[in-house]
Amino acid sequence: MLAGMYSTLYHDLLTHIPEDRLIHDELRTLTYGTDAGFYRLIPKLVVKVYNEEEVIAVLKLCNRHNVPATFRAAGTSLSGQAISDSVLVLLGHTWNAYQILDGGQRIKLQPGIIGAHANVFLAPFGRKIGPDPASINSAMIGGIAANNASGMCCGVAQNSYKTLGGMKIIFADGSTLDTNDQKNKEAFLNSHKPMCDSILALSKKIKENQPLADRIRDKFKMKNTNGYSLNALVDFDDPIDIIEHLMIGSEGTLGFIAEVTYNTVVEHPFKASSMMFFPDIKTACDAVVILKHQNVDAVELMDRAALRSVENKKGLPSYLKELDDSVACLLVETRAGSKENLENNINEITQSIASLPMARPVEFTDDPIEYTMYWNIRKGLFPALGNMREIGTTVIIEDVAFRIENLAEATLDLQKLFKKHGYYEAIIFGHALEGNLHFVFNQDFNVQQEIVRYRYFMQDVTNMVVHKYDGALKAEHGTGRNMAPFVEMEWGKEAYEIMKEIKNIFDPNNLLNPGVILHDDPLIYLKNLKPMPAAHELIDKCIECGFCEIHCPSKDLTLTPRQRIVAWREITRLSETGENSILLSRLKELYSYQGIETCAVDGMCATSCPVDIDTGKLVKKLREVNTSPTANSIATMIAQGLGTSITGMRYGMNIADATHKMLGEKTMSAMTGALRRVSGGLIPQWTRYMPRGAAALPKNRMKNGASLSVVYVPSCVSRLMGVYRTSVDRRSQVQVMESLCYKAGYNIIYPKDINNLCCGLAFSSKGFVRQGDEKAREMEAAIKDVSNNGEIPIIMDTSPCVQRMRDVFDPSLKIYDPSEFALSYLKDRLSFQKVPRSVAVHVPCSSRKLGLDNNLKEVAEMCAEEVIIPPFVKCCGFAGDRGFIRPELTESSLNNLNDALPDSVTEGYSTSRGCEIGLSVVSNREYKSLLYLIDEATL
Ligand SMILES: Cc1cc2nc3c(=O)[nH]c(=O)nc-3n(C[C@H](O)[C@H](O)[C@H](O)COP(=O)(O)OP(=O)(O)OC[C@H]3O[C@@H](n4cnc5c(N)ncnc54)[C@H](O)[C@@H]3O)c2cc1C
Ligand code: SF4
Ligand code: SF4
Repeated sequence: MLAGMYSTLYHDLLTHIPEDRLIHDELRTLTYGTDAGFYRLIPKLVVKVYNEEEVIAVLKLCNRHNVPATFRAAGTSLSGQAISDSVLVLLGHTWNAYQILDGGQRIKLQPGIIGAHANVFLAPFGRKIGPDPASINSAMIGGIAANNASGMCCGVAQNSYKTLGGMKIIFADGSTLDTNDQKNKEAFLNSHKPMCDSILALSKKIKENQPLADRIRDKFKMKNTNGYSLNALVDFDDPIDIIEHLMIGSEGTLGFIAEVTYNTVVEHPFKASSMMFFPDIKTACDAVVILKHQNVDAVELMDRAALRSVENKKGLPSYLKELDDSVACLLVETRAGSKENLENNINEITQSIASLPMARPVEFTDDPIEYTMYWNIRKGLFPALGNMREIGTTVIIEDVAFRIENLAEATLDLQKLFKKHGYYEAIIFGHALEGNLHFVFNQDFNVQQEIVRYRYFMQDVTNMVVHKYDGALKAEHGTGRNMAPFVEMEWGKEAYEIMKEIKNIFDPNNLLNPGVILHDDPLIYLKNLKPMPAAHELIDKCIECGFCEIHCPSKDLTLTPRQRIVAWREITRLSETGENSILLSRLKELYSYQGIETCAVDGMCATSCPVDIDTGKLVKKLREVNTSPTANSIATMIAQGLGTSITGMRYGMNIADATHKMLGEKTMSAMTGALRRVSGGLIPQWTRYMPRGAAALPKNRMKNGASLSVVYVPSCVSRLMGVYRTSVDRRSQVQVMESLCYKAGYNIIYPKDINNLCCGLAFSSKGFVRQGDEKAREMEAAIKDVSNNGEIPIIMDTSPCVQRMRDVFDPSLKIYDPSEFALSYLKDRLSFQKVPRSVAVHVPCSSRKLGLDNNLKEVAEMCAEEVIIPPFVKCCGFAGDRGFIRPELTESSLNNLNDALPDSVTEGYSTSRGCEIGLSVVSNREYKSLLYLIDEATL
C-alpha cells in the first residue's frame, strides 16, 4: 500500500502514465530491489517509462513531491547504484531507436539499446562502439554511458567519455538539452545561464589550481570511475561539452541520458589470441609493460587461482592443471585489417617478450572457435567463482586500478591481503594494459563476524590502493554505494568538495539517486546487504547478474528469470524464518501468476546464464508441487486415452470454427472475450487464428516402387490442429509432409498406435511430470520398434518435441526436425525453385537451443527469394498451448515483432504450431509450418 507522498505522487503520475506501468505490489517492488550488486533496497514505486515526455513528467512530479528517483537500464551494475528505496524509473522496451551516421563513423542510440545490439547495427560498416564491458550482451547504452563502463579492449582511449559525440539529457527539473542540436544548445545557454556559469566557474577554479588540474589529468590516464568525471572540467572549456562529459560516469545522479551519440571505432576483421604462461606474476607484469608498446588490443592477466577456478572447463588444455603454483597467465589479443598485418603483429609481439622466462612456449591461434573459447573462459571467471561458492554466500567482485609500472607489486600486495584476511579462494584477473585488476572472493553476509572481516579487509585494500599506489578504487564498475564512503579518501578534500558542488549544480534538491557516488555515512558500504538464502538446488548458484533477462518472454509482462529467483529466495526465507507471515502469503499469492503462470518454461534463460541456470525448471517443479489430485487424475485420464481426447478436441475446434463462420469475427471475439473474463482467464482467448481441427491421420501408406522409407511422427499438436479459417492451402501439416515425402520418393511409416502417442512435453510443462514421463517411454518404445532401433530415419514435425525427444530418449535414436530432414533427405532428391516473395521465419527456442538456427535459415533461403529473420525477436512466449490461456504473454513477448517486419512480408514460417499461432495473432500474418514453404518450392 502506498502511503503519504508516494500515494499522492502515484495519483499525479496516473495522468501521465498508465496504471499497469506504475508498479507497487509487494512482489515486484521486492524483485526490482535487486541489481547485480550485493545490496538490496526495495522501491516504494517502480515506474516503467516509455518516452522522454514520461521521464520529464516523472522528474517534475518527483520534484514537486520531493521524492528521490533512481534510473534503471538492465540492472547489471555491481556497486549498488541501480537500486532505490524510493522511486525506481525503469526503461521500458520502447527505448530502442538508433540512427547510423556518416557511414557508420557515428551512431545515435537510445538508452534502452543493448550494447551488443549497437554492434550488430554497426557490423556491416566494420565499426563498433568503443565501450566493451563483459556484460555487453545485457547492459544497455544508458547504463554503459552512466557507469562509463569499459572492458578488455577499450581501455581509457575508447570508453564512453573519449568516444562521446553528443547527448540528449533530461535534468532533475525536467528541462532538456540536446548537445547535437545547435539551436537547442543556444536556448539552453540562455535558459540555464546560472548553471552554465557555475560549471564554467568550477572549471576555471580547477584550471587555475595547477597541482589539482595535473592530478586530475594524471588520475584519468588510468581507468577511474570512482567519483565524478572531474576530467571534464579540465579537458573542455565549453560548458555544454563539460556538462555532457560530466554525465558520463554520473550513475544517474546528475540527470537522465535520453540519447547518446558515439564516435565509433574500427572492428578489425582479423584476430589472433594467445594464452601466455609466465613463471610468476612479476614476470607476467613485466611482460605487460613491454606489450603496452606493441600492437596488442587486449592483455588480460589471470593469476594461478583464477586459472585453477576454470581448469576443468571443457576444451581447455589439460596442462593447465599441471602448471606450477606460482604461474601467471596473460591472454593477449591482436587484431589487424589484413592477414599479413596480423602475422606481422604476432611476430613482433612474440619477439618483444622473447627474452623473458616463460612457463610454456608462446603460441597464437586465429581459429575463432579456439580463441572465442579462451575469451569466454576469461569472461566466465567471475561467475566461475560464483558457481563454486558455498550456498548462502555472496560472490563479490572488486575493481581497482594501478599505474602499470606498479602492477606487479600491487598484485603481490593484494595476494598478501587475501592471506591476511583469510580469503584463500580469492582470484585476481584484469585488464592488465590499463593496470585494472578485478579480484573476486566469496563473502558470507549472514554472520556479523564475517561482515566485520569484510570491513577490515576493505579498509586494508582501500588504504593500499590509495596510500601506497595512488590508484583508483573503482576502475570501471562505478562508485555506487560500495565505494561512496571512500571517494574523498581517494581524491582528497579539495576534489571531493568540487564533486559535491557538481551534484549541487545539477541536482540541488538531491533527488537523483541520492547516496550514490557521494554518501555521508562512512559505513554505508556495509548496510542494506542482500540476503542470498538457499532456496532450491536448481537456482542456488544464481549470482543475480541479470544476464538471463534479455531472452525472457515474460520480462515485460511480469517477472524475469532473475526476479523469479529473487522472489523464490525471499519466499523460502520467510517460510523458514516465520518472520512475516502476512507478507509471505501475499508474495505467494502474487507469485502464482507472476512467477509460475506466466513462465513459458522455454528455458531460454539458461542460454545466457553464466552458471547454467534454467529457471523454467524451477517453475516446472513448482507447477508439479501445485497440481491438485483432481487435476492429476484428469491428466492421467487424458494421457491414457490421448487418441480419444484428441478426437474430442478436434471436434470442439471444428465447432468453434463453424461458430466463427456463422457469427463472424467481431461477435465471436466479443463473446469469447466475455466468457474469458467471467472465467477469470481460464477459458482460452479465441482469435481469428484459432485453427480448426486437423484431419484424422491416414493409415500407413506405401509409395509405389519407393525403396526408401522414413518414420514420420506427427506431434500431438499437429494431429490436433488444422489450418486457420483464412488459410488458402487447406491441407493439414501431416498432408503436406506426406506430399513432400512422396515427391522425394519415400515411403512413410507411422509408429503403431500413433494416435495415442505423445513425447510428454505437453504434460510435463504443466507440472504433470509422471504422466509426461510415461508418455515419453511409450513413444520411445513405439519409434524404436518401427524404426528398427533407429535404422530408419525418424522425423518429428514440431521442434519443441524434437528437443524433448533428444533430451529424454535413447540418444542412439536420430530424430530429425523439419529443417534437418529437408537438408539431409530432401535437398538432393528434389528440385528447389524459390518462390518470388519475401517471407518471415521464426526460429523456435527449442531450435535455437539445438543449434538449428542456421538450418532453418538455409532451408528457407532455398525456398524463397527473400527471408527475414528479425534478429531481436526471440521467444514468442506461446509455450505450447499456454498462449491460448495467457495470450498476454505472447503479446508482450512479441512486442517488437511488427516493427521488425516490413509491410511487404505477409506470411511467416516456423517449426512449431504453438509459435506459429502466437506469431500469426500478434503480426496478423499467417505463420505456418516451414513444410508448406518447402512443398511449394519443390518439384
Ligand atoms: C558478470 C558481470 C560482468 C560485468 N563486467 C563489466 C565490465 O567488464 N566492465 C564494466 O564496466 N562493467 C561490467 N559490469 C557492470 C555493469 O554490467 C556495467 O557497468 C553496465 O554498463 C551497466 O549497464 P546496465 O544497463 O545494467 O545499467 P544499470 O545497472 O541499470 O544502471 C547503471 C547506472 O546507470 C544509471 N542509469 C541507467 N540508465 C540511465 C539513463 N538512461 N540515464 C542516466 N542514468 C542511467 C543507473 O541509475 C545506474 O546508476 C559487469 C556486471 C556483471 C554482472
Ligand atoms: S539465473 Fe543465471 S543469468 Fe540469471 S541472474 Fe542468476 S546467475 Fe545471472
Ligand atoms: S523459462 Fe522462459 S519464461 Fe521462464 S524464466 Fe526462463 S526465459 Fe523466462
